[in-house]
Amino acid sequence: MKYPGSSIHSQFDLEQGRDVRPLANGGMCASKSIVLTADRTLMSSYNGSQFIGFAACFPKVLPRWLYSQLFCPPQASMDSDGIAAPAGLRRIESALVHSGTPKDDVAVVHPSMIDRVVDENTRVIGISTSDPLGRGPASSTFSSLIDREPYTAHFFRELMDSRAVRSRNTRVIVGGAGAWQLADVDVMKVFGIDCVVKGEGELVTPPLFKDALAGRPLPLAVSGGPVPVDGIPEVMGPTVNGTVEISRGCGRGCEFCNPNMRRVRHVSLERILSEVRTNLAYSSKVTLHAEDVLRYRAKGMIPDEAEVTRLFEETARLTSDLGMSHIALASALSKPSLIQRLSEVFDGAKKGSVVYAQTGIETGSPRLVKNHMKGKAKPFAPEKWPEVVRESFALLSDHHWVVCGTLVMGMPGETREDVEKTLDLVRDLKSMKSLIVPLFFVPLGEMKGDEFFRPDAMLPEHWMLFAECVDHDFRWAQELMDDLFRQNRLSVAKSGLFRLAAWYMQRRLRPYLEMMHEGKNPLKHAEGVRDANHAESRRKGAEA
Ligand code: SF4
Repeated sequence: MKYPGSSIHSQFDLEQGRDVRPLANGGMCASKSIVLTADRTLMSSYNGSQFIGFAACFPKVLPRWLYSQLFCPPQASMDSDGIAAPAGLRRIESALVHSGTPKDDVAVVHPSMIDRVVDENTRVIGISTSDPLGRGPASSTFSSLIDREPYTAHFFRELMDSRAVRSRNTRVIVGGAGAWQLADVDVMKVFGIDCVVKGEGELVTPPLFKDALAGRPLPLAVSGGPVPVDGIPEVMGPTVNGTVEISRGCGRGCEFCNPNMRRVRHVSLERILSEVRTNLAYSSKVTLHAEDVLRYRAKGMIPDEAEVTRLFEETARLTSDLGMSHIALASALSKPSLIQRLSEVFDGAKKGSVVYAQTGIETGSPRLVKNHMKGKAKPFAPEKWPEVVRESFALLSDHHWVVCGTLVMGMPGETREDVEKTLDLVRDLKSMKSLIVPLFFVPLGEMKGDEFFRPDAMLPEHWMLFAECVDHDFRWAQELMDDLFRQNRLSVAKSGLFRLAAWYMQRRLRPYLEMMHEGKNPLKHAEGVRDANHAESRRKGAEA
C-alpha cells in the first residue's frame, strides 16, 4: 500500500491542481524544504500548567494580546531544535527523519516565525491541529453559549492566513486530533489545504511528504490506522510541558471516541526515559501522557501497580517537576494502593506537590454508561458508575490529587432523569477540590452520524447542571489558583491578573447563574440580566 496502514478517502481523491514545482534534486535542498508548525494555542507551555491550556477552548472575549500573554505566552526559545512543540508534531518530525529526510531539511517553527522560515525552497508545510474550527466538545460548548469564536479557531485561521501558508509554492498537509473538522473539500479550499491526515500519522505521513516534495498528486484525505508500537518513532526535540507519551489507545470502547483508541499500546520504559532526557535538556518539566496513565502496561482493566510505580520512580529520579495527563476513575478505584504509592513518589520528588490529572466523568446515569460506554466502569459494573465516580474522587482527594473531570451533555437518548442523576452526582462531589467541566455532545467515532448538541436543545435540568458545575468550579477556583501559581512560580503580576479575571467573571455571571439554577435559559433572558447588572453597578456607584 502506498501510504501504509491507511485508508484513502475516495470522495476526496482529487488533485487540487496547485502549481508546485518539483525540486531538481528530488526534494532535498540546503534550506528547509519541510516546515512543521501548529497554531499558537498549541505552541506554548501555558505557564507550566496544562489546566491553563484548557483556556484555548474559551470564546474570544479578551483582546488577542492579553489572551496571548496570559494563557499561551511565547516560549523562551524560538529555535527549531529548542522550541517545545506538540508531541504529535515532534513525532511527525521523527517519522520523516527516520524515513530518510535529512534532519536539516525539516524545521519545527512557532507560527509567529513561519513567514521568516518559509522561503522559495520550502515545498511542504505540515500543520498539527487539535480544534481548527472550534467544533471540539469544549470550544463548541462555550462558544455556542455566547456566540463567539473560540481562540483555537481564531489562531488556526490566523496561521492559515499567513503569507507562508498562502504561498502557491508550498503544499499544505494538516493532521492532528482536530483533522476530522477539516476533511471537507470546501473547507480545504477555503484554507488552501492540499491534504488532510486523520488518525495516527507516523506511517502515512512520510510517503505523503515525499509525494508532495516531488510535486506528485496528493489524495485530499488519508486516514491512518493504529500504528504498532515499534512504528512510533522516538521524539528528537522538546515537547510542550515535556509531554512524553507512555501508552496509546484506551480499550474502554466508548462509542463517541476515536476508533483507534480501541487498541492499547505501551511504550517501553527505556524509550520513555530516553524521551524524558530529551525534554530535560531544555526544561525541567515532564508530563507523562496516556488516556489512562494508571494502566501503563496493564494486562487488563486493573492497573499493574509495580509497572506504574517503577515508571514514576524512574522518572522522578530524573526530575522533581513531574506530572501526568489523564487517568480513569475506575482504574484509580480498582487499585487504591497505587494512588498511595504514586502520592509518595510525588511527595518524595517535591514536598507538598499537588498532583493534577484530567478525567472523564461523562454522566451520572448508569443507563447511559450501559448504552454508550460499556467499558467505562470496568472492572466495575456499569450500574456502579456513579459510586465509582464518588469513591474515586474521595480517594484521590484524600491523597491531595486534583482532577479536572468533564461531563457530556446531550448524548443521544439522554432523558431528564439521566441529567438529574448527573446533577445529583455533581452535588455529591461538592466537598472535593476539583474542576468539573460540562461539555456538549459532539458526534464522533461510532456516533458520528448523530447531531451536535446545541444550547437551544438544553432541558431545564441541563441549565441546572451547568450552573452547578460553574458554582463548583468557582468554589475551588481561588484555592486551585493558589496551588497552581505556587507550583509553577507565576509572577505576582500574572497571578494577580488571573485572580482579577476570575473575580470579574464570577461577578458578571452571578445573575445568569441564578436563572440557570431555576432551570431557565439565561440566553432568552439576557435583557433582564443586563438590566440587573446595570442596576447593580448603579447601586455600587451610588454607595461609593
Ligand atoms: S474512556 Fe475516554 S479515551 Fe477511553 S474510550 Fe472512553 S472516551 Fe475514549
